[in-house]
Amino acid sequence: MKILVTGTAGFIGSALALRLLARGDEVIGVDNLNDYYDVNLKLARLERVKAHPGFTDVRADIADRAAMEALFARHKPQRVVNLAAQAGVRYSLENPQAYVDTNLVGFINILEGCRHHGVENLVYASSSSVYGANTTMPFTVHDNVDHPMSLYAASKKANELMAHTYSALYGLPTVGLRFFTVYGPWGRPDMALFLFTRNILEGKPIDVFNYGRHRRDFTYIDDIVEGVIRTLDRVAGPNPAWSGAEPDSATSFAPYRLYNIGNNQPVELLHYIQVLEDCLGMKAEKNLLPLQPGDVPDTYADVQDLVNDVGYRPCTPVEQGVEHFVRWYRDFYKV
Ligand code: NAD
Repeated sequence: MKILVTGTAGFIGSALALRLLARGDEVIGVDNLNDYYDVNLKLARLERVKAHPGFTDVRADIADRAAMEALFARHKPQRVVNLAAQAGVRYSLENPQAYVDTNLVGFINILEGCRHHGVENLVYASSSSVYGANTTMPFTVHDNVDHPMSLYAASKKANELMAHTYSALYGLPTVGLRFFTVYGPWGRPDMALFLFTRNILEGKPIDVFNYGRHRRDFTYIDDIVEGVIRTLDRVAGPNPAWSGAEPDSATSFAPYRLYNIGNNQPVELLHYIQVLEDCLGMKAEKNLLPLQPGDVPDTYADVQDLVNDVGYRPCTPVEQGVEHFVRWYRDFYKV
């Protein structure tokens, strides 16, 4: 299978590309290596992916329409996984334009590429942040989520609406995956686990928002990758109208789908910090602060649809996932 993965130098994109390559898929990887966070970390992730002969590395901006058109025409991917995005809730208050450029303009370029180049299906990253201050726990994809609390969340919700339009108008099969707070080795330096680990090891205080009382469905990177791969294999079937094949009831073909991928076991932030302290064998000095603008109090994924259709439920306990992260961090940064 020839699969285009966007955001391949990213946390999730690099982990996904490695798994796809290991099982024999051909991966075309696109990334613009922007400097939202440490480019050296992105390059280090990319080095691991580039070691595989089945990988083609493309340096391009998904917001560049001509570059995307040329990419689809040249490589003719069968399937596309769109992970390239301007991530981060807080940064969307500082730099809204970046979210419009990549998450909206970039995403429309991906949809157009899929539509015009016979791509069998598109799997794309949405986010738990679309639930906003939703208080019905756990969150299901059937909840009405029209009240985003940040431009990041609004751009992810917009992606779902745009995907729906392309599925409805052109029969493009799309699967949106709402990831819940992903963590693990090679993780993002702007996210809590990375920031906490760095500061604790450097003897600096950590900022703990909402006084540490909010709960997050922290989801381990390998569980996210497993969920994406199973989605690609099980529910993201080719469009029967294009392939001439009969709809396959075993893979329950439908042109527009949405799933939560979350651990289904929310953990209070203070407990998460406690787990990290235990792994590091060090105590954190905590700055207890109020909830930040754009942040949501709790996240909790209902994954029943994922279990029913994809046959998968994320399962890594935070104790195990945080330990793997700490081991990676110490090894990578030699601390
Ligand atoms: P990441 O920032 O590590 O990866 C994104 C990659 O996309 C980066 O390497 C970046 O250089 C690249 N990129 C950004 N803009 C681009 C552009 N215009 N053109 C080409 N490349 C571009 O983020 P991640 O944590 O790996 O997230 C992957 C996806 O999952 C994103 O869509 C994100 O919004 C979503 N998501 C992540 C989480 C999480 O907890 N990590 C949670 C929910 C959703």
